[in-house]
Amino acid sequence: MKINYSKKTLAIMALTGIMMGQTLTPNVAFAQEVKAENTTAVETTHENKVGKNLVLYVGKEAICRLSSQEEYDALTEKVKAYFTDEGAQVVEFNIEPAMELKEKSFTFEEVKTADEAYKMLTQGGRQEALYIAEEEETLEAIAERYGMTLEEIQKLNPELVDPIEKGTHVKVYQGCPMIQVKMEQIISMEQDLPFETEVRQDGNMYQGESKVLQEGVNGKKVITIHQGKTNGNIDFSVMNNQTISAEPVKRVVVEGTKERAATGTFMNPTTGRLTSRFGPRWGRMHKGIDVANSIGTSILAADGGVVTKACYSGSYGNLIEIDHQNGYKTRYAHLSGYKVSVGDKVTQGQLIGLMGSTGRSTGSHLHFEVIVDNVQVNPLGYVQY
Ligand SMILES: [Zn+2]
Repeated sequence: MKINYSKKTLAIMALTGIMMGQTLTPNVAFAQEVKAENTTAVETTHENKVGKNLVLYVGKEAICRLSSQEEYDALTEKVKAYFTDEGAQVVEFNIEPAMELKEKSFTFEEVKTADEAYKMLTQGGRQEALYIAEEEETLEAIAERYGMTLEEIQKLNPELVDPIEKGTHVKVYQGCPMIQVKMEQIISMEQDLPFETEVRQDGNMYQGESKVLQEGVNGKKVITIHQGKTNGNIDFSVMNNQTISAEPVKRVVVEGTKERAATGTFMNPTTGRLTSRFGPRWGRMHKGIDVANSIGTSILAADGGVVTKACYSGSYGNLIEIDHQNGYKTRYAHLSGYKVSVGDKVTQGQLIGLMGSTGRSTGSHLHFEVIVDNVQVNPLGYVQY
């Protein structure tokens, strides 16, 4: 059966952009249209005489029948709760069109619960919306998705014919609230107050090194907001005041400023037994000293500087070269592993590699060279073994 809206109802619909329709049961009718020959109405008018026939109105529109004042109260509480933020203090609350419970001499067949009536009020309206086809589809499929009939969607879109191409704009009806709930609330909420970071410099630490002296902790503030909403959408939001409940604790970081540079003196680059000195050996020049120890023994930078080689290099095997940038270079050969790369700035005593037996070598040892202005000199003039 089709529902016939009165002129008045239509006027309300036009005003609010809301349409009823599917949510009403077939026997729904409005006061002026109910006739005695409607059997359901006749039956229920008996109840009217004892004053039990309660009808929920939204403005001038009869929505549904409720069983009691208690159900109506539960419904208004539910509506209020839906649009109010938890913990907020409501200072203004207004439902438009106004909701009212009236005793009436006509009725709906079914009695709705507060939950059902709530669903009608918050979703039972219909408003026109735009749907953009995501793929080729039919008007019927789109109508079904929106709970519309094929006739309704055709009437809204007289120019469209199946199949609907991807990207086509199709007018549809969408569920929406039948009421406008305008409310104002005061909400208090806690927010983080971010901590600041203080950087201190320390000349005793090398550049690139840093440590956290104190961890930062966010503070807390409580802000109070006066907020206006219509159906849950924010109309305005004004901060009333804010109080700091916990001050933040700043983060303190110490950064090193000391340059990674040469000290001007050399320390022993490793530990072990001196097995070969600088000078002529087997008819050739031995351009460094050999210090033997087990594979994996730590090799340290004899002084600070920049790593200029860290690669396999013929008879040297795995070789590291450090330019101390004061006229001196040092070389560390036959390594089994590297702990630095070319370009690294190293400090005196820093672990740079591991002893090994790569290249032209018999047994695990370090071949160590000291170079002054590109000429090898006797390392034992600088280190002691
Ligand atoms: Zn050697």
